[in-house]
Amino acid sequence: MSVYEDKNCYYCRLSAGPDESEHFIRFWTSLDSVVYLHRDQSLPGRVVVASVVHAEDLSELTSDQYTAFFDTVRRISQVISSAFPLTEKINLYLCGNNGQFRHPHMHVLPRFTGDRSWPDFISDFQQPYWPTGDPRYEEVISALHQRLMMEL
Ligand SMILES: [Zn+2]
Repeated sequence: MSVYEDKNCYYCRLSAGPDESEHFIRFWTSLDSVVYLHRDQSLPGRVVVASVVHAEDLSELTSDQYTAFFDTVRRISQVISSAFPLTEKINLYLCGNNGQFRHPHMHVLPRFTGDRSWPDFISDFQQPYWPTGDPRYEEVISALHQRLMMEL
């Protein structure tokens, strides 16, 4: 498989679509990864990192693709912790069990002492999201984007 090739794949369709979608706002694209702000910002800074390359499983990526994907996860984790200094721990959530989600992607979940499920694992979306166009999305994106730019 190559870049955005699988039309049945949620993340391939997402990457080929507009910047804003039902659950995500795309704000960073590199040669290897796409970073989406999750509309559930009950955990401030929550994002999803998706590989640019489609694969059914991480093990199908080349060593370079695999390394690049996890390097983006590492960098965005550092950026989130910097932008939100009260971050206690970054949780990483990788699944993709459902067929349409079998594309390498990682939920990056900043956790805060006293958040709604601390310290247990959390995977649910807190809805309703902020409305589309809510300036708080841009504030979070700006904080993350500036720090990503400084890292280059
Ligand atoms: Zn895909």
